[in-house]
Amino acid sequence: MKLNFFKNGKFLQDNKQTVYSIALMVVIPSVIIFNTWLFSQSFKNTVDQSLRDKAVGISQSINISLADKLDSQQDLQSYVSGWQSYTKNAELLDEKYEDDIKSLDIFYRDNDSFKLAASFDKDKVGQSYSSMAYVIAWNSNWPSAQKIVDKDNNNYYWLVVSPLKDSLGNKKALLVMTLSANAIDTVLSVALTQSYLILIFSVIIIILLLLVNSSLFESAMLYNKIKEIDQMKDEFISMASHELRTPVTVIRGYIVMLMDDAKKLSIGNEALQYLSIIKVSTERLNSLIEDLLNVSRIEQGRMKIDSVSIDIWPIIQNVVNQFSVQASEKKLILSCQIDSGSQSVVSVDKDRLEQVLINIIGNAIKYTLAGTVEIKAKSQGNSFFIMIKDSGIGMSAKEREHLFEKFYRVKNKKTNDIIGTGLGLWITKQIVELMGGAISVDSMEGVGSLFTLEFPLAKEQKK
Ligand code: ADP
Repeated sequence: MKLNFFKNGKFLQDNKQTVYSIALMVVIPSVIIFNTWLFSQSFKNTVDQSLRDKAVGISQSINISLADKLDSQQDLQSYVSGWQSYTKNAELLDEKYEDDIKSLDIFYRDNDSFKLAASFDKDKVGQSYSSMAYVIAWNSNWPSAQKIVDKDNNNYYWLVVSPLKDSLGNKKALLVMTLSANAIDTVLSVALTQSYLILIFSVIIIILLLLVNSSLFESAMLYNKIKEIDQMKDEFISMASHELRTPVTVIRGYIVMLMDDAKKLSIGNEALQYLSIIKVSTERLNSLIEDLLNVSRIEQGRMKIDSVSIDIWPIIQNVVNQFSVQASEKKLILSCQIDSGSQSVVSVDKDRLEQVLINIIGNAIKYTLAGTVEIKAKSQGNSFFIMIKDSGIGMSAKEREHLFEKFYRVKNKKTNDIIGTGLGLWITKQIVELMGGAISVDSMEGVGSLFTLEFPLAKEQKK
């Protein structure tokens, strides 16, 4: 049970996006922090080095200024006091000196120790000191600089110890000077604070981006899943309707045979009535299967359209004739008016055009309880128009908006008893558009509907 989540890397696989986001949230800020730290370290080292060089440089220039005053303690003290007042003034004016001199002492060699000859702190003048650093600097003949960390005050400074020589090169005194790096530290800490602020800001942006990205990623995954399910559904509908078609065709065939041979087979009137009910239901089942097959053909891009230039008058006339019995059963006046002067050669697929006309004229008859269904056709400009107008139940503007959507059916008292799938007009629109045509509708509730089909005329007869 323990660590089952991680078994076979399944956890990682299932939570790829979360793991990826968390990894980025950790890795990117860490890289930025590391980079900032590296930068600050190298900046500090560079500053330290240049401060050290400066400290040594100052000690040398002091030596040059004092070369001929080294024998006079008074001259030395007045020189040191001059520096002291200069440094104090700078402090008062709040000027920032990166090479801020904190103390300046000059010693004379006194046997084994060093006697203070001049200092910022005049009270200490005359006192003797002994320090290893002083001895080393004195003997080495060369200035030494040492970084001293003052842990109590949380700062550091440079201690420069340098022998002072007269103009003939004779070692006469020892300079001990401390230079504060406070000003540089302030600059550095301001720069570092700014980098950390930028870092925090970048991390917030990264986290926000990742959050947005992960929700986008989830949506994309969801979309892919829905697409997959949709495809599975299409495949299922296609397969199921194919499988259903054969048995339904067989049933239809035998019912027709039984009804045709009713007398020969001594089938009574009552049984014949049942057979005709079965036949109607089978017809409905068959048309549902055909609709589903058409939907899957269109959606999978398998709907074959073989357009040829053809005179469409006879096609329209033929379909209208097919409906004459159905119309007269409902006592509807079905008329077909064709403008004989019109161009009528259109590039269409004959079978598909018939399917379209059967659907629209069939609907007109189906949704008209009394009155007329008129079919008119004419050419105008480069187009050929077929208008199917009925005096049926019509529909509202809102219902019209959804008319060509898959499975959409107007639901009200008038349509309650009318059977349908809501697929016919969607299929019709797709087929019309595949043939380069267009379909539109105009309708008024309780008055009737007008469906208009428009096809481009075949090129050779366009005006
Ligand atoms: P079906 O007729 O199988 O329900 P269709 O896609 O052919 O599906 O039509 C969709 C809906 O459009 C129908 O349910 C009906 O409400 C409405 N409709 C179609 N033709 C007409 C018409 N001539 N008059 C009124 N309503 C119609």
